[in-house]
Amino acid sequence: MKFDTDCLHAGYRPKNGQPRNIPIIQSTTFRYETSQDMAKLFDLDAAGYFYSRLQNPTSDAVAARLCALEGGAAGMLLSSGQAASFFSIFNLAGAGDHVVCSSAIYGGTYNLFAVTMKRMGIQFTFVDPDCTPEQLDAAFQPNTKALFGETLANPALTVLDLERFAAAAHAHGVPFIVDNTFATPWGCRPFEWGADIVIHSTTKYLDGHAAAVGGAIIDSGNFDWQAHADKYPGLTTPDESYHGIVYTQKFGQGGAYITKAVAQLMRDFGASPAPMNAWLLGMGMETLPLRMARHSQNGLGMAQFLQDHPKVAWVRYPGLPGDKYYALAQKYLPKGASGVVSFGVKGGREAAERFMAGLKLCSIATHVADAKTCVLHPANTTHRQMNDAELAAAGVAPDLIRLSVGLEDLDDLVSDVEQALAGV
Ligand code: PLP
Repeated sequence: MKFDTDCLHAGYRPKNGQPRNIPIIQSTTFRYETSQDMAKLFDLDAAGYFYSRLQNPTSDAVAARLCALEGGAAGMLLSSGQAASFFSIFNLAGAGDHVVCSSAIYGGTYNLFAVTMKRMGIQFTFVDPDCTPEQLDAAFQPNTKALFGETLANPALTVLDLERFAAAAHAHGVPFIVDNTFATPWGCRPFEWGADIVIHSTTKYLDGHAAAVGGAIIDSGNFDWQAHADKYPGLTTPDESYHGIVYTQKFGQGGAYITKAVAQLMRDFGASPAPMNAWLLGMGMETLPLRMARHSQNGLGMAQFLQDHPKVAWVRYPGLPGDKYYALAQKYLPKGASGVVSFGVKGGREAAERFMAGLKLCSIATHVADAKTCVLHPANTTHRQMNDAELAAAGVAPDLIRLSVGLEDLDDLVSDVEQALAGV
């Protein structure tokens, strides 16, 4: 099926008389006739459900839909994007291991990797997404287990050269993990450019209505764990916590990574989504192509308006001709570059503050990628403890405003921004 059809039908095909919508299986547990029936599930000898901390039919149907949209082999949902980032790495790396990561990533992911996972003994080397091939090559170590980056980075709006990063990861015998949150599979399917694993904060465009926090991991099934068996013993040698099964042997190249993440990590950490949240995500994905086309159209329209405004100091939008990442966006995001635009108001932090106060339609919110337009001035909110010098070091200009352009009529949004700029 084509992408737009999969958004509506993948993952759930009701049989005669069954509910048309994915049913919400609001149950922690599942009943069996005999202990033997359940034992097969515990031994991973049969597929099925026994406890919703590990797996739930609603979540699995929605995960299968997203897996189809990304063109993957297997997928899982998690309770948040943060959980997805954590699981994606921790499923491969432990104390004493190392990961290479693009420096243009979401701040929460940076903190998770550079602070929290460092405490677990996993070291990260951060590389500029625009680094030279030699610099990228030099970041790898013998104990490197993965390369991580974001297709369209939050909030930097850099577009990662996926093909180049995939080639570097594979040259060093490690998988390339891509956070595809802002692009969504409508905008870019990283597996087609060599990525091995994709993760999402489904909280953003995939849900699209700011209704449910969630995350997902999808495996392409393309990375040959067995060919690098010495690096990934967790996948290629017996798991004593699961009766000595070897994930690659039992579930093959396409099933090993996700089965291990569910059977071990979900069992132990329990970062499972509520069935209701999974259902909301499935509902959101039904309209993904329509929403993303409109978000991208509105994002570009807003960027063009801002670019020509005398009170605007600068605009960043990779879909805007002349933007530093325009050429990469044309390659990797040809259908559209999402609704997220960043810009600066002339007059710095105070001018940005006055602009924000003047907005009437756009909501001030920390969120992005919502149907309703939202806007954030990091220097005054998420980064308010920093002075201008500290902000510069963090790559956040004091005047930076992040505008997540929604699905409203662009004329109304432009009028709102115009009247707020007039008051600056
Ligand atoms: N990845 C990206 C690109 C994000 O923008 C976010 C959140 O903003 C996350 C991951 C974390 O996701 P969540 O907030 O769902 O935990």
